Amino acid sequence: MYINLLELDYIQKIYIIILSLFIGSFLNVVALRIPKGESIVSPPSRCTSCGHRLGWLDLIPVLSFVFLRGRCRYCGDRVSPFYAVFELLALIGAWILYDHFGMNWEFPVGFFYICVLLVITITDLKYMRIPDKIVFPSMGAMLLLRLLIHPLPYWQYILGFFAGGLLLLLIALVSRGGMGGGDVKLFAFIGLSIGLYQMLLGFFFACLLGSIFGLIFIRLGIYKRKSPIPFGPYIAMGCFVAYLWGTQLWEMYAAVF
Ligand SMILES: [Zn+2]
Repeated sequence: MYINLLELDYIQKIYIIILSLFIGSFLNVVALRIPKGESIVSPPSRCTSCGHRLGWLDLIPVLSFVFLRGRCRYCGDRVSPFYAVFELLALIGAWILYDHFGMNWEFPVGFFYICVLLVITITDLKYMRIPDKIVFPSMGAMLLLRLLIHPLPYWQYILGFFAGGLLLLLIALVSRGGMGGGDVKLFAFIGLSIGLYQMLLGFFFACLLGSIFGLIFIRLGIYKRKSPIPFGPYIAMGCFVAYLWGTQLWEMYAAVF
C-alpha cells in the first residue's frame, strides 16, 4: 500500500510537469496571437525568421529549444528564449501550486489564475496591453469556478471584484493615463479570483516590486525615464505571492501590530 501511494504521487508529478509545459506553450500562442486578432488554432506555428512551418519536433516545450541550441532547424537563426522561459514559468507555477494545495480542487482553479497572469505578462511586455479579449472571458470562467469552488467566503470574492476594479479605476483617474483601463479590469479579475484581502496585498506587492525594479531598470538604462513602464509583470508576481502566502502574511502583520 505504501509503495502504491508513492507511485501515485510520482505519476501525478510527471503528469503535472508534461501538462503544464504544454499549457505554457499554448499560453505563448494565446498571448502573442489574441491581441493581433489572430486565431489560436490556425495558421500553424512558423519560424519568425524564415517562415518555415514548424513540426512537432520543433514544438516540444523547452526541450526543442535546448536540443536545437536555441536555433531554428531550417535557417539556423536564433529563436527567442522568451517561449521557453514562459513554458518553464508555467511549470514552476504548477509545481509550487501542487506543493501548496496538493490534489485539491483549488489546484486547477489556482493554475487557471496563474495562466491568466502569465498571458497578461506576455501581452504587456510584447504589446504594452492587457487585452479585454483575454480579461473578460477569464472573468466569466473564474466567476463560474468560484461559484463552485470557494475556500474563502463568497463575500471575499465579490468585494474583491468590486474593490479591485474601483481601486485601480481611482488610480487611473488620478494618474491620468499612468494606469490603463486594462489594469482596472485585471484587478477586478484578480479580486474575483483570490478575494479582497489577498487582492489588496497583491496590489501592495505589485507597487513595491514595480518601484524597486523600475528604479533598477532606469539606472541600467533598460527603461527610459519618461516612457511607460509595463506594470503587468509586477502585478503578476505580486498577486501570485499574495494568492499563495497572503493569509500567512496578514496573520504575521496582525501579530506584529
Ligand atoms: Zn527559420
